[in-house]
Amino acid sequence: MIKLPKPIQCHLWREKMEENVLENDFDFEPVDDFKNSEDPSRVTLKCGRCGQIYFYKSIKDTNCEIYIPVFSAKHGLELNSKSSQELLNCIPRLESIDDKPFHWVGVGLI
Ligand SMILES: [Zn+2]
Repeated sequence: MIKLPKPIQCHLWREKMEENVLENDFDFEPVDDFKNSEDPSRVTLKCGRCGQIYFYKSIKDTNCEIYIPVFSAKHGLELNSKSSQELLNCIPRLESIDDKPFHWVGVGLI
């Protein structure tokens, strides 16, 4: 398990207890200075409201999308070298499978 910072200032974290609230409430901007790669399934993003940086990954095999809160854009770039399986060991993370609403995974373990 890779434990990452709780993004306590972010509305996406604060609203974690309200079911499905995350579904239409994303407000991300790309972080231009840190290009992850040519792979569009891996992107470092910044929350447009609070500036929290997230590493985004879509995993086609399992029809899964995840957002992992990271310490900095540079840290997001470091996650770019990790495999999908390693990224799925990161907590907390926002996760959606089969286009279901996003929810936080691993909150009880950190
Ligand atoms: Zn935020």
